[in-house]
Amino acid sequence: MSLAIDLASLLAPDRVSVKAADLDMASHDESSCPATLPDAVAWPLTTDEVSRIVRYAYEREIPVTARGAGSSLEGNPIPVRGGIVLDLSLMNRVVEMHESDLQVTVQPGIVYNQLNEQLKPHGLFFPPSPGGSSDVATIGGMAANNASGIYSVKYGGTRDHVKAATVVTGAGEILHLGTRSRKTSSGYHLLGLLVGSEGTLAIATELTLSLVGVPQAKQQGAFAFPSEKLAVTAIAEMMRYGVDLAAVEFLDRRSLAALNRFQGFGLLEQPSLFVEVHGSAQMVDEVFATATALCEEQDGRLISLPDGRHPWEVRHFTTRAIQALNPQAKTIRTDMGFPISRLPDVVEESYAIAERHDVLLHTFGHAGIGILHALLREDPADTVRWAAANQAKDEVVAFVLSVGGTASGEHGIGLGSRKYVQQEHGEALELMKGIKQVFDPKGILNPGKIW
Ligand SMILES: Cc1cc2nc3c(=O)[nH]c(=O)nc-3n(C[C@H](O)[C@H](O)[C@H](O)COP(=O)(O)OP(=O)(O)OC[C@H]3O[C@@H](n4cnc5c(N)ncnc54)[C@H](O)[C@@H]3O)c2cc1C
Repeated sequence: MSLAIDLASLLAPDRVSVKAADLDMASHDESSCPATLPDAVAWPLTTDEVSRIVRYAYEREIPVTARGAGSSLEGNPIPVRGGIVLDLSLMNRVVEMHESDLQVTVQPGIVYNQLNEQLKPHGLFFPPSPGGSSDVATIGGMAANNASGIYSVKYGGTRDHVKAATVVTGAGEILHLGTRSRKTSSGYHLLGLLVGSEGTLAIATELTLSLVGVPQAKQQGAFAFPSEKLAVTAIAEMMRYGVDLAAVEFLDRRSLAALNRFQGFGLLEQPSLFVEVHGSAQMVDEVFATATALCEEQDGRLISLPDGRHPWEVRHFTTRAIQALNPQAKTIRTDMGFPISRLPDVVEESYAIAERHDVLLHTFGHAGIGILHALLREDPADTVRWAAANQAKDEVVAFVLSVGGTASGEHGIGLGSRKYVQQEHGEALELMKGIKQVFDPKGILNPGKIW
């Protein structure tokens, strides 16, 4: 109780809670990782308030876990050691538009889609759209996970767009990292370290993002293929030839079947690519024609989605549709990243491993940037199948690492992928632990994550 009283005196009584419903809300994310209740939830409004709380926690060695929307998929914001959850959702303002510089400064709790709504009148947008969570994910959470999305193949991931940030370290110190210049060679890239650190080094309270202009013209289309291998080979070829796609998403036939069951979309249940091109009207036509020709070389054909549906309207539901297939089950997922030429091998090997373990795997992802998710749904109560699915995941990740890939392309390590970090980073992991110590001397920020 004294924690709540202390926090209320640092903020305001109505922005601190120890109510069961609030603790429960802050105890989980969208992963299958077990929930853990914090001791209190606080909703700061300013950088100073965040600093005050962290200083208080630093003196008493109380864990502090930042939280955006809790839409992570690896247990990233779960407060595994209890303590305070700092819910940043009320810090959701655009602080300043820098229209002529194609930049915006925002508070971390602003939601991705809401930011883009506010950017529309300026003819600008923030591109790393995180597919199915763009309606909830906050910019702070996206930066902390270095999220990416459907448009990352053309415009990059979140790290590529964070130019500057105000952050609060684990000792409660306020730092300003980065500048608004487009390019810098000044000093260590501390800002780059912060992005992707999952709230374990500092808490971001303001972020300056680079934006891009809304394209003059867009063209979208869907291509269906006779096999998964041919579909992903088409992607690898399009990337090899430098076809300037704004988005190219892969969905295997099982993901499409799940979407049909979920929403009755009536989609053709054949491995498919959803594609979007941005540019001038003439350029869009040319690029789309090249993409079509390369897809046709792999026996792909241009199809219309039923009822004139928009590809992203369908794609948005992929994760939820797979989860809905078996609501009692839990998801075991991979978030692999790899060199683009290995995409066909990764897909083939993933199916082969799943078959060997007799488990059902769904694959989809931002395949143009070499990111693929393989989702397995099993009931943990069925210990044999649960173990088989986990073993299949380990083998898929081991294969990806063996071809120069990573265990996390975009979701972060959180809790779910910790066991692969040593293998992926080797001795560099000790250096990471040392860096954590510098930013967070008492280890109070989101403890228990990444390793
Ligand atoms: C259906 C679905 C689809 C998804 N699709 C994608 C996708 O296409 N691409 C993708 O990259 N991800 C995707 N995700 C994962 C998730 O939405 C993203 O990682 C998102 O960026 C998380 O944002 P959040 O606001 O929910 O952050 P949270 O989950 O609340 O937090 C994420 C991490 O950031 C930390 N954190 C939060 N705010 C701050 C801050 N201000 N300062 C420091 N640390 C902070 C937290 O402690 C935690 O470690 C998807 C999730 C779902 C449920």
